[in-house]
Amino acid sequence: MNNNLRTISQIVEPQNTIEGAGVKLQRSIAPRVSNEYDPFLLFDHFAFNDPLEGPIRGFPMHPHRGIETVTYMLEGATAHRDSLGNQGVIGPGDVQWMSSGRGILHEEMPRRSDNGAIYGFQLWVNLPSHLKMSEPRYQEVNSSTIPTYEKDGVKIRVVAGTVDGVTGPVQDIAAAPLYMDVQLGPDKEWTFDIPAGHTALAYVFEGEGVFSGETVESVKLIKFNDGDCITVRTENNPVRFMLIAGAPFKEPIVPYGPFVMNTLEEIKETLQELRNGTFIK
Ligand code: MN
Repeated sequence: MNNNLRTISQIVEPQNTIEGAGVKLQRSIAPRVSNEYDPFLLFDHFAFNDPLEGPIRGFPMHPHRGIETVTYMLEGATAHRDSLGNQGVIGPGDVQWMSSGRGILHEEMPRRSDNGAIYGFQLWVNLPSHLKMSEPRYQEVNSSTIPTYEKDGVKIRVVAGTVDGVTGPVQDIAAAPLYMDVQLGPDKEWTFDIPAGHTALAYVFEGEGVFSGETVESVKLIKFNDGDCITVRTENNPVRFMLIAGAPFKEPIVPYGPFVMNTLEEIKETLQELRNGTFIK
């Protein structure tokens, strides 16, 4: 166990954004040339919990190239279908880890739960240059196959990565990611090692906690400085957050809407292929 604590480098306030066919969401990070969250590109939070907000709008058929999109639903569901012929519903507790590689077209349509709620997250993870034109791939993870680690008032659903011998079902991802839904009851403490050099983020979405010595209330995204470990402590309130970490690729990126490539030339080729009808191989 190392003791080089990762302090907080940045606390991001999620911004209200409208995407797709008018979907309201809260966005913490978005793809930028500066690539400061490398290998992570985007983090969106869907929380439409008032049926008076009207009909649910979704994300009709759209392309992706050069990235992975990770959808995690807690309430409600997302119906999806794509150009590879896949079709299904991501329900509460389920994860879809989609590696677009050279390209897919897909549709993502949120649905309310019986009590009217929709609650979930979408994370975008970059692909390294040598995998940007790889075969598209899906890892559909049913809620029942996501293991839960539970000890001393700390409860963790492990989607990707390992906690104390409990390993998540998502495997073989280039960024070597850690993606976990972490809950601490009141008056608990948890220390966790994250490899030095990896980017580490926490999306605090319920309660409040003391992260590496600094109190953070929901809803905020934390970026940690480099180091070996993080600590989270609670006082009177519980806390719940997504812990996100991965190895940066340290490559230049050129984001353009749903595409993230390494050069402007590759973006131009992508747009040309969409016009020519050769985008889907
Ligand atoms: Mn999409």
